[in-house]
Amino acid sequence: MSTRPWGYRPINERPDPSWELHPQTHSVRTGLARSGFGETSEALYLNSGFTYSSADEAFDSFAEETDHFLYSRFHNPTIAMFEQRLAAIEGADFCVATGSGMSAMFASLACLVEQGDHVVASAAMFSSCHVVITEFLPKWGVTFELVKGNDPAAWAKALSKPTKAVFIETPSNPLLEIVDIQMVSDLAHNVGATVIVDNVMASPILQRPLQLGADVVMYSATKHIDGQGRVLAGALLGSREYIFEKLLPFVRHTGPALSAFNAWVLVKSLETMEMRVQRMTENAQTVAEFLETRKEIKSVRFPGLKSHPEYELAKKQMSGGGTTIGIEFAGNQKAVFAFMNKLRVIDISNNLGDSKSLITHPASTTHRRLAPEVQAEMGITESVMRLSIGLEHSSDLIKDLTQALN
Ligand SMILES: *Cc1c(COP(=O)(O)O)cnc(C)c1O
Repeated sequence: MSTRPWGYRPINERPDPSWELHPQTHSVRTGLARSGFGETSEALYLNSGFTYSSADEAFDSFAEETDHFLYSRFHNPTIAMFEQRLAAIEGADFCVATGSGMSAMFASLACLVEQGDHVVASAAMFSSCHVVITEFLPKWGVTFELVKGNDPAAWAKALSKPTKAVFIETPSNPLLEIVDIQMVSDLAHNVGATVIVDNVMASPILQRPLQLGADVVMYSATKHIDGQGRVLAGALLGSREYIFEKLLPFVRHTGPALSAFNAWVLVKSLETMEMRVQRMTENAQTVAEFLETRKEIKSVRFPGLKSHPEYELAKKQMSGGGTTIGIEFAGNQKAVFAFMNKLRVIDISNNLGDSKSLITHPASTTHRRLAPEVQAEMGITESVMRLSIGLEHSSDLIKDLTQALN
């Protein structure tokens, strides 16, 4: 009797299409590797290890003479499906997935720098990224300089010195500052630096940093890529040289691996990402325009509004304003909390890029860890809120905001 279950047969795959696929088609098709059961949807390979047909095959596999899977800390079929699909959407050579956005961020720099190296970053950053660059890297003898993201002269000055890596977040979290990716990449390359872009806020749908000259793109896939509040994940995308010579030797041995289960959730999330992000961006534009008409709001920060200081640059490098709105309330923390507590649809939560609209008060939550003067430099005051717009109908979001403001 066969040891294989009923219905199993050797795989007989059809040839790949002979033309270049659209990114939306990649998001549904690329990376799909069916097993001998011929399942429609991507399979979940929830296994830590792999077997070899002989000791010789194991020998060859560890000598990297074959592409046999070795161990799920290095590689796993479901994780590989997610990586290949995201790389195709992004237009990158290769992708490496990690267990969280922060493990991707840390690995992106840690695999490059050594004692005595210098890193330059945009000052307005997600707080954990700020902690890595300003607290952990200096402990290992890596110096840093932070630059005001929208000041070209400051970038030119900072990047006149030898620099190993440049880390930029654009748009920034929470106040949506825009950094000119092309300009910074050109300056950085003149001094031999590798440019890493935290593209979390824009998502792969609204901004393509590699096409603007950056070397590496970093994601928290927890945000728009899953976008449904389920899993933590991160990803790094870049050239063969960066991925194979720098990143993989670091991540394989330090172990920030993504779980296969989370990769399986994400591979399905990618199928709907374009539709979700486009609808969320349309909703955010409608809500941002509404908020600008209200006297209770001192200022609205949204890259899709003409009032945004870098509106023209945002239009040039992004294909939409994004899904997150920075709000400065005309009132103190007490008034801000009273407003947030009155919301009936929008949830109070520190996540973003989710199908559910979420609001947070960064000074007391996501950016609490930063010193008051650092918060002030980033424009984070007691009156600032960050509103992440989801997939509810915009009319209900506006009704909810209206009743809470009134
Ligand atoms: C959330 C976030 C991160 C960190 O990602 P995790 O998945 O939470 O580890 C990094 N950068 C930005 C801009 C983020 O919003």
